[in-house]
Amino acid sequence: MEELQKALNDKNLAVSTLPEKGRCLFTTRDLSPGEVILSEDPYVSVPNKNKESPNSKCEWCFSSSNVKKCSGCHVVWYCGSTCQKLDWKLHSVECKALAKVDKNRVKSITPSIRLMVKLYLRRKLQHQKIVPTTATDNYNLVEALVSHMPDLEEKQLVLYAQMANLVALILQWPEQEINIKEIAENFSKLSCNAHSICDSELRPLGTGLYPVISIINHSCLPNSVLVFEGRLAVVRAVQHIPKGTEVSISYVETAGSTITRQKALKEQYFFSCTCSRCIKMGQFDDIEESAVLEGYRCKDRKCNGFLLRDLDNKGFICKHCGLLRNKEEIENIASEVRPMSEKASMALSSGNNTQASSAYKMVEKLQLELCHPYSINLMRTRETLLKILMELQDWKQALVYCRLTIPIYIRAYPPFHPLVGLQYYTCGKLEWLLGETEEAVKSLTKALNVLRITHGTKNPFMMELLSKLDEAHAEASYKRSSQNED
Ligand SMILES: [Zn+2]
Ligand SMILES: [Zn+2]
Ligand SMILES: [Zn+2]
Ligand SMILES: [Zn+2]
Repeated sequence: MEELQKALNDKNLAVSTLPEKGRCLFTTRDLSPGEVILSEDPYVSVPNKNKESPNSKCEWCFSSSNVKKCSGCHVVWYCGSTCQKLDWKLHSVECKALAKVDKNRVKSITPSIRLMVKLYLRRKLQHQKIVPTTATDNYNLVEALVSHMPDLEEKQLVLYAQMANLVALILQWPEQEINIKEIAENFSKLSCNAHSICDSELRPLGTGLYPVISIINHSCLPNSVLVFEGRLAVVRAVQHIPKGTEVSISYVETAGSTITRQKALKEQYFFSCTCSRCIKMGQFDDIEESAVLEGYRCKDRKCNGFLLRDLDNKGFICKHCGLLRNKEEIENIASEVRPMSEKASMALSSGNNTQASSAYKMVEKLQLELCHPYSINLMRTRETLLKILMELQDWKQALVYCRLTIPIYIRAYPPFHPLVGLQYYTCGKLEWLLGETEEAVKSLTKALNVLRITHGTKNPFMMELLSKLDEAHAEASYKRSSQNED
């Protein structure tokens, strides 16, 4: 811990332990928006493969282009010899272990199992001094992470024990070197400490354990953001952070009512948030916020007021104009939304995009009657429609839906949120594609203003955005000058 404290001091950071929160990370200098607070390579990481991201990925850098299977184990993939070499110290031992596993059993080796196997192998390699340790890269930091074994349900404990047995089976270490209970506890640690590694557009690529970044606590209105550059996790300030302030990031989706956020945090991370948003629970502002994000719209289509349940429980009353919306009427629409949503999501998962698109449009139509115009549910439906229409290459309609989400994003997220920047980026790309050059310049500029803070500027993703903006600028001024000549 002292060693870590010293290493963090050099980065103008300090760790403190508060009785009600556990470990916290503080800054020891003033920080401006966009400044890097901390970056960390994972102690261990593993790529994921799922429906959202079906491609095989490089074990080291998570790239999915030109990957080849490791000829030793046939489990792990690499994009080339550079990544393979960087991973070799660890993978050479993992490879031998994986190669011995029965072919039928290999299928049951999930990314979580692999992450745990790698955790034990890396601990051993550091213990044997084959892999060097540093103040910010050693197993003691993993040991210091919180687990929540007493909070877990019996079913979960049984599952972790089964997973621990599979890990032991893969490792094949002598009995005295293996502790099933400890492995099970480490699974509980991973579930609340490991981070989902995403690409620059926040699409999940894998999972990694970053024990120093794990010290950073959650806030529903965080002063910092965690973004990945390949396997490197980078924490940047998204607002001015005065010296001596606790650094915070968000662990869960922050667009949602206090009750929704608290529920998500309790379920996965076992704590009650006491951030500046959460302490307002039950106050007028918080009630209004919940009613906007998750409540109903006013009976008067032109009114944007928010609705609260009326005292006689007859329905919901608009706090702006006083109109009552009858309970039965709301229930009727809600009962239409449910089966339509199911139908839409079934069409989507079966890959029928045309059918899914018309079903989601029906859902949107019903939600427009039911939900507040800034409702999160409506926003999610439109996000899904945007994705589907992009897949269908219907750029014109995709742009319509992209534009419709933006006001809700601005309402639901703080100004420097990666999702706000990325949505402007999508909008700009679509406008560019459709020849709306002037609009594209505006949207790409807005994207840049947000993403330069959350993503920095010196990475391939941002280089691409900058060059797109340059091109759009050039084309816009060319169009303007040729119009003038006419
Ligand atoms: Zn690679
Ligand atoms: Zn291998
Ligand atoms: Zn909170
Ligand atoms: Zn109203």
